[in-house]
Amino acid sequence: MDAQADANKLVFKLVLVGDGGTGKTTFVKRHMTGEFEKKYIATLGVEVHPLDFQTNYGHITFNVWDTAGQEKFGGLRDGYYIQGQCGIIMFDVTSRITYKNVPNWHRDLERVCEGIPIVLCGNKVDVKERKVKTSNVTFHRKKNLQYLEISAKSNYNFEKPFLWLARKLTGKQDLEFVAAPALQPAETVVDPELMAKYAAEMEAAEAAPLPDDEDSEL
Ligand code: GDP
Ligand code: MG
Repeated sequence: MDAQADANKLVFKLVLVGDGGTGKTTFVKRHMTGEFEKKYIATLGVEVHPLDFQTNYGHITFNVWDTAGQEKFGGLRDGYYIQGQCGIIMFDVTSRITYKNVPNWHRDLERVCEGIPIVLCGNKVDVKERKVKTSNVTFHRKKNLQYLEISAKSNYNFEKPFLWLARKLTGKQDLEFVAAPALQPAETVVDPELMAKYAAEMEAAEAAPLPDDEDSEL
């Protein structure tokens, strides 16, 4: 790569958080070059996956920080968050408790990285027996996060969180990805009709007033 191209290369630290078992590692490993070029930071027990995307404004790399499983034992060390420029909070739509814990992850992330763009991802939407319905998800509306539904195993919406973050970070709403990244082959499939139904529910939920009682959400 020549010096000019290098100077134009945008690189952002992306902090990936959420309860253990929600699919964070599965998600980040879908991107093949990121998986190939990952680096292990032994002192923190963290794997950093450089995920490259080609956009109409040039290359963007998200250095995605993924834990080695420490989140199962409580909060993560500050070193995990420090200098984070954007974030993904993941929960599992088949597990209510993982959604209930989203505010804790958000608080921890905000404490160190105040005001960064954050995407809330509901993963495993390939599973038909959901426990957290689209209309139950309201946390993002109170905190100005973007909510997206994904299925890491099927690659469904894999690029969406990165696209939203790239637009926020660059301030360019017309940013588009111009080439698809190489992904691992899908391990499962989503039902397109069901995904369309979820998308419609999401739109309707965004238009509805926010419930004020937290406990009535689930
Ligand atoms: P992490 O602890 O958040 O890193 O979660 P993992 O990536 O280790 O995934 C936990 C479990 O959820 C594994 O058994 C994965 O195969 C499964 N899983 C991850 N993503 C999906 C998905 O999109 N759909 C389904 N059905 N299972 C998933
Ligand atoms: Mg993991």
